[in-house]
Amino acid sequence: MKVTEHIATAKNLLISFEILPPLKGKTIDSIYEKLNPLMEFQPAFINVTYHRSEQIFKEKKDGTFEKIEVRKRPGTVGICAAIMTHYKVDAVPHLICGGFSKQETENALIDLNFLGIDNVLVLRGDAGKNESAFVPEPDGHRYALDLLKQTVNLNNGIYLEEDIIDGYKTNFCIGVAGYPEKHFESPNMTTDLQYLKMKVDAGADYITTQMFFDNQKFYDFVKACRDLGITVPIIPGLKPLTSKKQLSTLPRTFHVDIPTELSNEIMKCKTDSDVEKVGEEWLYHQSVELKKFGAPVLHYYTLGKQHVIENVVRRLM
Ligand code: FAD
Repeated sequence: MKVTEHIATAKNLLISFEILPPLKGKTIDSIYEKLNPLMEFQPAFINVTYHRSEQIFKEKKDGTFEKIEVRKRPGTVGICAAIMTHYKVDAVPHLICGGFSKQETENALIDLNFLGIDNVLVLRGDAGKNESAFVPEPDGHRYALDLLKQTVNLNNGIYLEEDIIDGYKTNFCIGVAGYPEKHFESPNMTTDLQYLKMKVDAGADYITTQMFFDNQKFYDFVKACRDLGITVPIIPGLKPLTSKKQLSTLPRTFHVDIPTELSNEIMKCKTDSDVEKVGEEWLYHQSVELKKFGAPVLHYYTLGKQHVIENVVRRLM
């Protein structure tokens, strides 16, 4: 079932989770171990992130270095298919522009369709580890908008090979990313929102947001979207703060602010277990308020201390 169908038919607030594929060398059981405790909350869907290859320098026997491509977390599509079979829960694979040619994108979408996966979250992806800015593949997409358009084309039976006539029309429900605190490369919020509107006008069915710790930022974002004529569902992305270190790593990695009240409370903590308690309370109150606000789904990023999310969702239900 599509994300938008879940939202349209929901009687109560929906919960969803986002997981990462395991590091290469681990089995699908590591995913089940992570997901088993979350199933009591009957998530409407589970997102699985996509991780492109990285270039690393490996030392050779003669002391020189060679540059090699390594994909540390492969398996997004396979994991989605496994989740759907194992739990009978919808899975939402993330698909990115980075590292993909248009042909590879088309083939990936065909694989998803053959597997019965009718949801996809389309993203640009970030710059590679050794790059200062995002570089598309020579025959790839520069922006999520272009990847979205290719997916919409496939939904209309338009394939890259122009001689395919009467091509099968896929039926993907397409999500895109939104940033309540602005995407870090955007010159300002207005410009960022205009690009978001372009993604929606081109066929995006819903928006999932970057994490935020101040609900007001989400409320303002939703209002700005609505004022601009963006009417699709907007799903808030949520994550608990669970260590002091994250006071600097989260803003650096995700370009989000930590509210003063929260950072002050965390600075007072003596141990990371104290931080977890503060982070849990904060996330719980964020969730309660977002539920009251009428958010269609609460989407939890499970990376890190998953038990904190379990505690929050259990209290919320
Ligand atoms: P875009 O929408 O392409 O925007 C990128 C930047 O370009 C923005 O500054 C935007 O304002 C600007 N822009 C957009 N369109 C245009 C245009 N036509 N002309 C000029 N400028 C434009 N990354 C991963 O690698 N794997 C994942 O699984 C993953 N999952 C994510 C899930 C969510 C919910 C979110 C919020 C992010 C996720 N990311 C993931 C991170 C994401 O790839 C990065 O934030 C990336 O930097 C931007 O992706 P985007 O899809 O928002 O890009």
